Amino acid sequence: MTTSQSPTLVLVYQRSTLPWIFESAQRAGIRLILVPRPDEAVTEDQLPPAVVELLPLDLEADRAGALAALRRRYQADPFQGIVTLYDPAVPFVAEAAESLGLPGIGHRAAVGAQDKRVMRERLAAAGLNVPGFVRLDVPQDWAAAEALMFPVVVKPAHGFSSLGVMRADRLTDLKAAVEEVWQLCLSKLGHVAGLVVEEYLDGPEFAVESLAHRGEVQVLSIGDKGWPEGPYFEESIYRAPALLPEEVLRDIRREVVAAHAALEITDGPTHTELRLHGGRHPYLLEMGARIGGSGVSHYIASRVTGRDFAADALRIAAGLPPHAFQPGGPVGEIGAAANYIVPCGGFGRIEAIHGLDELRADPRVEHVVQMLFPGDVVRPYPDFTGYPAFVLSRHATTAEAEEFHRFLETSVRIDYTALESDA
Ligand code: ADP
Repeated sequence: MTTSQSPTLVLVYQRSTLPWIFESAQRAGIRLILVPRPDEAVTEDQLPPAVVELLPLDLEADRAGALAALRRRYQADPFQGIVTLYDPAVPFVAEAAESLGLPGIGHRAAVGAQDKRVMRERLAAAGLNVPGFVRLDVPQDWAAAEALMFPVVVKPAHGFSSLGVMRADRLTDLKAAVEEVWQLCLSKLGHVAGLVVEEYLDGPEFAVESLAHRGEVQVLSIGDKGWPEGPYFEESIYRAPALLPEEVLRDIRREVVAAHAALEITDGPTHTELRLHGGRHPYLLEMGARIGGSGVSHYIASRVTGRDFAADALRIAAGLPPHAFQPGGPVGEIGAAANYIVPCGGFGRIEAIHGLDELRADPRVEHVVQMLFPGDVVRPYPDFTGYPAFVLSRHATTAEAEEFHRFLETSVRIDYTALESDA
């Protein structure tokens, strides 16, 4: 098969149990070379859809070696692009694409989307809504954040999944919060590049899925993420489309489109999280240059719009035009979709998880993605163990999704046994 018939992309660090990106590649006729996650065993005899080859690389331990291996693979048989849904790999992917002359957003934009210090500085320089913030390159500099308005949020510059994000209510809590976040990130991530301390934005949270192509942006969906208040910010729900007045939706779209320009993200998918400060004004929390939630964002946006978001994202990564792309204006909605993240609801050794099996047979539920199982140990927050499960469902309206989530709050429950060390 020639490459003009079937483009090939390298897909970096995608968990093979999260199916959406693989299925979209298959529908789009795109072949994938999968760089498996180091913590996951994928074998040649059980490849996900569209995967034609495995290419194990260790980005963290040997970045230069990984780049060299990609180059060798490219020279032996050229592929058309490289892509990831894993936030920490975004700069590597941009750099690899740049060095091989493949489509991509470039290293500068990738760093702006991945490093919260740089992101805040670029958004502020473009005149967008940004809370008061300071960057801390070492924890001893904590007093630089004294002048901010409290409460504040302390978070790692390179964090993801809310790991190490902590609210500090008073100036007297600041030093301890900075030290705790630093230590936690050091133990979980192995190294800390720096922290951001920023003023707490009081208001409901939203997630926005968008696609950029040649500098134009289309906002596909805006979804409700609840109103997490801390002190730690576990993810909980995602329901789209968000029920907001049209003028607020318009302001969100305008802010998100402007953020693409400020961060120079001209091509590919983005996942934005923002808060409506004072219930009205959109302030970005972050914009990732990737499909969010390891593909959950594709599930939500595709169910709301009827469009194959991930397929178009992959086409752009291969240098092909997206099939359904009209910048500006709202996108038609054909239904509602939701993700319920089962809360840990405690800690210890998981004895049983109740309610998930029944959901697999529920017609509203399309996927139950289980990450934690009986026998696994959940540490108390802020030591992030992972999320027990995602329940992805589709509905006629967002109100029905809300009602379904109220049902899940009581029907899904985890029993724990205490660990000896906690007794
Ligand atoms: P991560 O990349 O780890 O998800 P975020 O910056 O998105 O980090 O922060 C995680 C969560 O913490 C957000 O979804 C939000 O609920 C909360 N959060 C972060 N910064 C702020 C802020 N300035 N004001 C209010 N909440 C915040």
